[in-house]
Amino acid sequence: MDNIDQYINPTTTLEQLGIAPAELQQSLKLAGLLQTSLEVESVLNYFLQAAQQVVSFDAAIYTFEADKYNLKFGKEQRHRCSYRLRLGGEFLGELFFTRRRRFSEQEMQNLENLMGQLIYPLRNAIWYQRAIRAAKVDSLTGAHNRAALSETLEREVDLAHRHKTAMSILLFDLDHFKQINDSYGHQAGDEVLRETVEICNQALRNSDMLFRYGGEEFVVMLPGVNAKGAALVAERLRNMIEKHVFVAQQKTIPVTMSIGTASVTLKDKVENLIARADKALYQAKHAGRNCVICAESAPATATAATA
Ligand code: GH3
Ligand code: MG
Ligand code: MG
Repeated sequence: MDNIDQYINPTTTLEQLGIAPAELQQSLKLAGLLQTSLEVESVLNYFLQAAQQVVSFDAAIYTFEADKYNLKFGKEQRHRCSYRLRLGGEFLGELFFTRRRRFSEQEMQNLENLMGQLIYPLRNAIWYQRAIRAAKVDSLTGAHNRAALSETLEREVDLAHRHKTAMSILLFDLDHFKQINDSYGHQAGDEVLRETVEICNQALRNSDMLFRYGGEEFVVMLPGVNAKGAALVAERLRNMIEKHVFVAQQKTIPVTMSIGTASVTLKDKVENLIARADKALYQAKHAGRNCVICAESAPATATAATA
């Protein structure tokens, strides 16, 4: 309690607290600046600019594997000093400073002191970014959710138009899934959905993205892939699901899926692309299921038919 009294007593002077007014002003300025962003990269960028005024360094690297951060500011040099960032037992990554000259004990101490200013804003930014990511993920399967799909597809279709590159989507739906739920229970159905996502993710490239469209329907986005490539990917996924051994209550569950594919055409809009994939999927269901149907690249129009 003594310590708290000391801080809240309005008559306590800065000298009594051992803080020089100029030092406090600097420190408040930095604290304020670090609170202006919830982007990990910006928080670090502001902090490093301030740190540069205290100790000169050529580069700083922040790594946090669990959250997939690997940020480099400047050009790495031979000598480095590193800090493992922790707050109340929570590990928040590592920060390295590097330069040509060795760091002195005093410089390392100065950097460490400064780190106290970084830790809370960095933790807040990390938590915020986690929450943002979680809001775009389907909690059952871990696939991206429908909100993420609208946002990402809009961007990718736009990019494909601007750079005149190919881009395709697959829309797949598990066959007779209601029957799986009815025969093996809803939990077994959930497990089939989770495994399906796992298998697809393993088979897809890093640039491809898998989204849960709803229920047992999913969209795979394939940037840079044309209609022919999309058909190959779709057939590979279809085949993997058909071959995979799904088990519930010590029984093998036969699982298959039907897939419709569609590729971006000139002036295509997201809704048209999805509508064509959806139509192809519908045709795949009618063709007997467990198959791939590729949408025509250009939809037939009424004017074309009557011209
Ligand atoms: P089809 O081959 O024509 O696609 O037949 P289907 O039985 O798969 O199609 P239908 O749309 O009739 O059934 C989909 C089922 O998916 C119904 C619904 O209860 C089930 N479902 C939707 N979401 C979930 C989920 O999160 N978990 C489980 N276990 N089942 C789900
Ligand atoms: Mg289905
Ligand atoms: Mg369905």
